[in-house]
Amino acid sequence: MDADARVGVGYDLHRLVRGRALVLAGVRIEYEFGLSGHSDADVVLHAVTDALLGAAGLPDIGEMFPDTDPRYKDADSRVLLASALEAVKAKGLVIGNVDVIVHAERPKLSVHKRAMRESIAGILGVSIDDVNVKAKTNEGVDAVGRGEAIACTAVALLQRKTPE
Ligand code: MG
Repeated sequence: MDADARVGVGYDLHRLVRGRALVLAGVRIEYEFGLSGHSDADVVLHAVTDALLGAAGLPDIGEMFPDTDPRYKDADSRVLLASALEAVKAKGLVIGNVDVIVHAERPKLSVHKRAMRESIAGILGVSIDDVNVKAKTNEGVDAVGRGEAIACTAVALLQRKTPE
């Protein structure tokens, strides 16, 4: 067992509304609804960001990028994740792997999984093999199942960078 391995979990949910673009993991997806929020409301990148911050023992996304701060209005969540990654690296940690579940009744996300993996891997500077994305419906149950919201759960494993 590697004592220097650290795991973190992230979760987020945003409501689906008309008149907003749907952006998941930095990928623009055609749909009649988008996610509401102060930033671009990219629920996937928010969950991944919190998983990384959690594993590193850093403050969470809401503390790091408060939605009361006008700088983060309509913010590109790719920039927020990249910024969190810098904070993680500054603690001498590197990414082992990231695993993601997107909870969405609609739209069908299976065709977008590869693009979402590539997008996350690109932001994090890791191989696509180190990022997995799964999509699950909620079987028609609760807000996600009724198509009122999309949620995301993410897990990240960090490892202490070994000195060269
Ligand atoms: Mg969020």
